[in-house]
Amino acid sequence: MVGGGIVGLAVAARLLESDPERRVVVFEKESAIARHQTGRNSGVLHSGLYYRPGSSKALNCREGKALMEAFCAAERVPLELCGKVVVATDEAQLPALDELERRGRANGVDLERVDAAGLFELEPHARGIAALHVKEAGIVDYVAVCERLAARVTERGEVRTGLRVAALEPGPDGVTVRFESGAPPEHFDVAVNCAGLHCDRVARASGLEWPQRIVPFRGEYWELVPEARHLVRNLIYPTPDPRFPFLGVHFTRMTDGSVECGPNAVLALAREGYRWRDVSVRDTLDALSYRGFQRLAVRHLSMGLGEIVRSISKTAFVRALQRLVPAVRAEHLVRVPAGVRAQTLSPLGALVDDFVLQKDGAVVHVLNAPSPAATSSLAIARRVADLALQP
Ligand SMILES: Cc1cc2nc3c(=O)[nH]c(=O)nc-3n(C[C@H](O)[C@H](O)[C@H](O)COP(=O)(O)OP(=O)(O)OC[C@H]3O[C@@H](n4cnc5c(N)ncnc54)[C@H](O)[C@@H]3O)c2cc1C
Repeated sequence: MVGGGIVGLAVAARLLESDPERRVVVFEKESAIARHQTGRNSGVLHSGLYYRPGSSKALNCREGKALMEAFCAAERVPLELCGKVVVATDEAQLPALDELERRGRANGVDLERVDAAGLFELEPHARGIAALHVKEAGIVDYVAVCERLAARVTERGEVRTGLRVAALEPGPDGVTVRFESGAPPEHFDVAVNCAGLHCDRVARASGLEWPQRIVPFRGEYWELVPEARHLVRNLIYPTPDPRFPFLGVHFTRMTDGSVECGPNAVLALAREGYRWRDVSVRDTLDALSYRGFQRLAVRHLSMGLGEIVRSISKTAFVRALQRLVPAVRAEHLVRVPAGVRAQTLSPLGALVDDFVLQKDGAVVHVLNAPSPAATSSLAIARRVADLALQP
C-alpha cells in the first residue's frame, strides 16, 4: 500500500478485515501519517448533496458517511452531526440552489429549504435570501480517524513511515515494490497506489499509461479569533458555482470548537506547496507546461485571478466571507495552515469530478480522490479492496 493518508489506511484496514492472515504493509514517505490532504482539510462529513445522482462520488459518499459514523462511534473519535446551511445570497444563485436541492433529494439527503427568516433562526449572523438546511452534515476529526485506522492495521500489519515508493511493478506472480532510497525491493500479491498528490507520478513510474495529470490547488484558511466564534454556529456554505468542483469559501466549526474560514483555490507552486514561497521548479513546470492546465487557465482566467487576489489580499478574502456573514471583520481572522488538493485534470482542461480507480494487473491505482474522499474513505476502501483481490 502506498500512502498513509485516509484512503491508504482505510484500504489497508479493509484488506486485513477481509483476511486477518494477509500480510499488509503501508509505505508512507513522511515521518508520520496524515500529513497532507487528510490532515489539512475542512473536517466536514459531507452528506452527498453536491454530487450527480448515480455517480461514484454520490454512492461512496452516502455509504462512506454511514460507515464513518459507525467507525467513529466504535472507536470514540469525535464526530458531530451538527448540520449545515448552503446559502443563496442573491436571485442569480437560486437556479444553482434548486439544482442542489434536486440532487440532494435524489441522493436521499435529509434536507429542508428555508427562507431568509428560517436561515436567521439557524445561523443568526448569516445573510441570504434562501438556503438549504442539510441536517445530517457533520464534522469529524479525520486525523484521529487515521490514528485509529493505523492502530487497527498495526495489530497485524505494518505502517512503515519515511519510505518513498518509486514504483509498483506488476509481474506474472504479483507486484514488486521499489523504493527511492535504494532500500531492497519487496514483493506482494497485490499493491494499491493511494499516493494522493503524487498518485499520477507513481502510476506512470509503474508503467500505467495515464494521460491525465494531478494539478495541485492550494486552499488557504483563516480562523476566527475566539471572540468572533459566536458569528458561526455550525457550517455556513455558499451556493457553489456549478462550473467548478470547489465549494467556495465557507465557515466550518471544527470538532475542537475553532471556526475555520476558507478554503480558496490557487495553483500551488509545488505539489505540497502550502505557502507561496514553497516552490518546486519541477512541479511548477509540470503544471504550467501541461496542455490541460493551459486550457483551464485560459477558460477561467478571471476566476483564477480573483482567487489569487483573495490569496494575497486579506481585505479581498474578508469581502468574500462578508457575502455570507457581513459582521466578519479583518481583525477577527488569523491565518492557519493551508491544504493542497490533488485535482486530476484532463488534457482537454476538464477538472475530473468523479473518483477514479484503475486496475493494472495486480496493482490498483486511486487516481482521483478529491473531496469528499475523506468522508467516503471507508466505502472507497471496500471498492478498492474488492478490485485488488479480483483475479
Ligand atoms: C483544503 C482541503 C479541504 C478538504 N475538505 C474536505 C472535507 O471537509 N471533507 C472531505 O470529505 N474531504 C475533504 N477534502 C478532501 C480529502 O481531504 C481528500 O480527498 C483525502 O484526504 C484524500 O486522502 P488520500 O489518502 O487520497 O490523500 P493524502 O491524505 O494526501 O495521502 C496520500 C499520502 O501518500 C503519501 N505519499 C505520496 N507519494 C508517496 C510515495 N511515493 N511513497 C510513499 N508515500 C507517498 C503522502 O505523503 C500522503 O501521506 C479536502 C481536501 C483539501 C485539500
